[in-house]
Amino acid sequence: MADRLKGLFILPLLLGGMVSPLCAAWVSGEEAIMGTRIKAEVWHEDESQGRAAIESVMQEFRRLDRKLSPSIETSEIAQVNRKAADEPVPISAEFYQLLKTSLRYSTLTKGAFDITFASIGHRYDYRQGIRPSSEQVKLTIPLIDYRHIRLVPDNSAVSFKHAGVRIDLGGIAKGYAVDRGIALLEKRGIRHALISAGGDSRLLGDHKGRPWHIGIQAPRDKQAMAAVLPLADSAVSTSGDYERYFESDGIRYHHIISPDTGRSADSLQSVTIIGPDATRTDALSTGIFVLGAEAGMALINRLEAFEAVIVDNQGKMSTSDGLANLGVGKKSKAANGR
Ligand code: ADP
Ligand code: MG
Repeated sequence: MADRLKGLFILPLLLGGMVSPLCAAWVSGEEAIMGTRIKAEVWHEDESQGRAAIESVMQEFRRLDRKLSPSIETSEIAQVNRKAADEPVPISAEFYQLLKTSLRYSTLTKGAFDITFASIGHRYDYRQGIRPSSEQVKLTIPLIDYRHIRLVPDNSAVSFKHAGVRIDLGGIAKGYAVDRGIALLEKRGIRHALISAGGDSRLLGDHKGRPWHIGIQAPRDKQAMAAVLPLADSAVSTSGDYERYFESDGIRYHHIISPDTGRSADSLQSVTIIGPDATRTDALSTGIFVLGAEAGMALINRLEAFEAVIVDNQGKMSTSDGLANLGVGKKSKAANGR
């Protein structure tokens, strides 16, 4: 009898739990993955499901880190770097697609975006202030060329044409992970969300009736914003010379490498690209950082879906035609004499 009673008491409690109004809320989470801070913010009718959605995003970032980090020995990219100069290495469909996209952006940016920058890039250690010697750079420059990467479509494999070629997807992987995260949220029916991974962000919907406000950091003042963009349903990527760098003999050695020189690209302080998805804004922000203001802006103005805010090495800001029409960066453009 006592047992049955217990059951009777529990049933109404359970029913009560089910019919009680769910608690709609903004839920956010933050974690260090892929060498940066991953932030996710979602609007969900059920807070606990919102939390589960955020955890699924973080899991996806962890999965991609295990696959794409060159410093994790068991990662797919580390295996490719070890073997692809000797023989074609079979790779996953996902990795194959990422390589294909990377090569497309190499062509589009005339080689400015080039994942074989890693042939010299792996010799820099920005935390410890280590850089390759001029001799090493000179010897390695011929190995930096995306045309050394051969994709074998039949058996989904990759090979390198020369020993010493290395690849690193650091200029596109975070953007790709952000897109994957947004896709997971959409699948769960979420309609308002933000995911950011360091300099790469994507917004799903708006901030419930108003735009999201995405700040572009002033490259030489951590506390200040160069501009704030009201956005919805967009991706934004910023590449800057102020994130990972060290200085030596008055030269700033930072993590975006010009494939032509094997040294840090030095004509700009930051590039922000706005577009439909983060994979492409990520690749473009890195590529245009190398291309420079003139060729970079010309490229963006040819691409209908993308806009840019560029800060040159004198701190002058310029904006692409679409943003200028909206009045973004007007003052700086006037100061710039454009
Ligand atoms: P963040 O890593 O801060 O998001 P970026 O998107 O600008 O910044 O990417 C910089 C990263 O891109 C570097 O850390 C490196 O892994 C990679 N990279 C550097 N130079 C190039 C290049 N010329 N082409 C492609 N990737 C590059
Ligand atoms: Mg990038």
